[in-house]
Amino acid sequence: MTMSEAPNRDGPAALLVEYLRQLLLSPHNAPAPAELAALEGFEQLRDYLVELKEILLAFSKGDFGHQYRPVGAVGGFVKALQSNIRHLAWQCNAVADGDLEQRVEFMGELSDAFNRMTASLAAKQELIRQKQEQLTQMTRELQSEVKKKEMMEGALRASEEMYRQKSLRDPLTGLYNRGYFFETAAREMESLKRQKNGRCCLLMIDIDHFKLFNDTYGHICGDQAIKVVTSTIERTLRKSDIFARYGGEEFVLLLGGTPLERGTAIAERLRVAVSEQPSPAENSREPITISIGLCGVESGRLAPGSSGGKVLLEALAEADAALYVAKEQGRNRVSVVMLNR
Ligand code: GH3
Ligand code: MG
Ligand code: MG
Repeated sequence: MTMSEAPNRDGPAALLVEYLRQLLLSPHNAPAPAELAALEGFEQLRDYLVELKEILLAFSKGDFGHQYRPVGAVGGFVKALQSNIRHLAWQCNAVADGDLEQRVEFMGELSDAFNRMTASLAAKQELIRQKQEQLTQMTRELQSEVKKKEMMEGALRASEEMYRQKSLRDPLTGLYNRGYFFETAAREMESLKRQKNGRCCLLMIDIDHFKLFNDTYGHICGDQAIKVVTSTIERTLRKSDIFARYGGEEFVLLLGGTPLERGTAIAERLRVAVSEQPSPAENSREPITISIGLCGVESGRLAPGSSGGKVLLEALAEADAALYVAKEQGRNRVSVVMLNR
């Protein structure tokens, strides 16, 4: 039933009431009956109510963006609601952008919920900041611990290397000791064995009449004499040579890649150089002299299958025997022999 068909029990007033009731209750806006349209001010009232309906419909769908015309108290209320909601939306965006100081004072229950939400977010953010600070502090402490540990490891490695070097060297002269010599010289012999034309010379060097020197000038002066001898020899050495204190006043020198003739000349030069050094004993005119037993080694003469260590021991025995000959022949001389001649 439409308004135009509605029973007109009590004339235009009842028709107006019925029309307005339907306008407010129905989702549709029925056209006004001609009888009502003719009433003064009716069309403006109808338009006002229709627009209010449209505004409330838009609000119910979440649309708060339009400009509305209604005036008066009801129009003011609607506009206030619209502006409050739009302001709240703006504040929500501000919170999303990180401003947790936002508070709402004009929306009753909604204000309380909003304010609780921002206060709780701010508290959580503060908690996160504190945790981050703790984490940064812990990271700093950890980094400093790691640095300390690295420094300690570095110091430990340096001291290990220092002790390793010490364990390889003789404290008086700083030369390698016989343990180091055996290890490296045996390796050298092993590699010489594999060469087609490998050669080297092994020298046993012994200070002459050193017991007498000690007895005459004292052991401290004797120590100085040992240093004079070793530093004189060291000055002539090449990288490939291995020079070590064999024990007491005896030294070994392996001249790598050196044939017998050249080794003999080098040994002779060493002998002369030592004898030309001034004696550390102030009141002595006697030069310090050395005797040298030299054993030449050639890969072609080695028995097949003998190890580098065995070749080294054989060469040492030969050099020692040659040294004995040099001593027998009057000292301050070089005696030469070839391994497996
Ligand atoms: P030779 O010419 O036959 O070699 O006679 P030598 O007196 O040198 O030989 P000997 O083996 O009889 O004596 C070696 C001396 O070297 C005895 C020892 O006191 C001395 N000697 C060994 N090591 C050291 C040392 O480190 N310092 C000092 N001052 N003397 C040492
Ligand atoms: Mg000796
Ligand atoms: Mg001696």
